Amino acid sequence: MAAAWDLKKAGHDVTIFESASHVGGLASGFKEPHWDSSVEKFYHHWFQSDSEMLGMIRELGLEDKVIFPRPLTVMYHKQKWYPFDSILNALRFPGLGFGLNKIRFGFVGLFLRLTNNWRALEQVTAHEWMLKYAGRQVYEQMWQPLLIGKFGPFYKDVNMAWMWARIKARTTRLGTFEGGFQNFSDLFAEKLREAGVGIRLGTSIESIKQEQAGLSVRSEQGAESFDKVLVTTSPNLMAKLCPELPENYLKGLLGLKSMGAVVMTLSLKHQLSKDGFYWFNVPKEEGYPFLALVEHTNFVSSDHFGGDYIVYAGDYLEAGHEYFSMSADELLERFIPAFQKFNPEFKHEWINKIWVHKTNYAQPVPLVGHSKNIPAIQTPIDGLYFASMSQVYPWDRGTNFAVEIGRRAARMMG
Ligand SMILES: Cc1cc2nc3c(=O)[nH]c(=O)nc-3n(C[C@H](O)[C@H](O)[C@H](O)COP(=O)(O)OP(=O)(O)OC[C@H]3O[C@@H](n4cnc5c(N)ncnc54)[C@H](O)[C@@H]3O)c2cc1C
Repeated sequence: MAAAWDLKKAGHDVTIFESASHVGGLASGFKEPHWDSSVEKFYHHWFQSDSEMLGMIRELGLEDKVIFPRPLTVMYHKQKWYPFDSILNALRFPGLGFGLNKIRFGFVGLFLRLTNNWRALEQVTAHEWMLKYAGRQVYEQMWQPLLIGKFGPFYKDVNMAWMWARIKARTTRLGTFEGGFQNFSDLFAEKLREAGVGIRLGTSIESIKQEQAGLSVRSEQGAESFDKVLVTTSPNLMAKLCPELPENYLKGLLGLKSMGAVVMTLSLKHQLSKDGFYWFNVPKEEGYPFLALVEHTNFVSSDHFGGDYIVYAGDYLEAGHEYFSMSADELLERFIPAFQKFNPEFKHEWINKIWVHKTNYAQPVPLVGHSKNIPAIQTPIDGLYFASMSQVYPWDRGTNFAVEIGRRAARMMG
């Protein structure tokens, strides 16, 4: 959508093909009739440092709808949850002790904030680097759970530039859009349509082929010709859509590793976290069946959801993990004992409704020396471009970087 906006402004005729019945992709949301806000299928927020996204929103004239409430993120230590959203709270956190470890934690954080040399950091794994510089206790308390949660069996393979990017480009203040991310995407689509961009919802592209002049894009509705095409799907799907790509480029696309995600959303009759905590970094090694518990209505008031309390329980998982084939009720059965750990009063009767969303492309896995694995935006086929979450490296995927790479692709397509 960001690329379409810029290409249209540059005077081109632009058509967006979207297989879903709505815009928004992984950041899309859903809504019950009595809610005045949507919730995201996969929990989403913005950081204050998301300058590309916030800049795009300003350009669209929608900045008065961006809100930065002050939700509380908490860390676990010995059966208790501690706020971990400011330097002061980090200093107070007992999980790091009060001596040398805290100093090492502080210095490592400061160094990573200040350095720009991610190319050196991508030559070593986060596991090795953190053990060496932050020390075992800090690593095992703070960073190892994050790596295990996000990357599962690949956690020791992820490079240190990934960790650098998270620390460098993220703030503790978290933001969202009035009415939810779906409202933002819908308003963006409205602006695109007003500017003359065609948006074809419910239109799945099946193949893209080179023609004598231009590219032939095929959907159920037949084939259409375009001078230039930008694909913004997963690398796997890109390889399927364009099998004519040279072998080297295809191999590069198919060689990229990524994690999927399974997220359950619950609408509850009561608040789950009595302390009003928003984001729980859940220690999976303690036997919890998910990585993050997020009480959305401790971020956006339950007044926007007709008094319902909205909770997410989510995890990043390898394709083929049993959660991908379990029904919503089977997953709920697995999760219920864990909800009781957050609030012993929690009962099945609290649940109004549950939804489960799954995707097999949620989080690229960056390996050592990863910059050489990134596919070029301009593919070897004339007029064919590709921009995905896997190419925003060294940054970690996020809507901010989707906007950045979309606009970068648009400049290249000129
Ligand atoms: C669990 C989870 C949590 C996240 N949390 C955050 C967060 O807090 N903050 C944040 O900023 N980002 C977050 N993200 C990342 C964010 O959602 C992505 O970075 C962003 O959505 C990527 O946008 P995109 O346009 O590149 O791809 P996508 O959102 O994947 O969009 C691709 C689009 O292509 C469409 N499509 C697929 N195949 C076809 C086809 N054959 N024909 C036509 N259309 C097709 C899809 O329907 C989709 O709409 C999160 C992601 C996940 C999975």
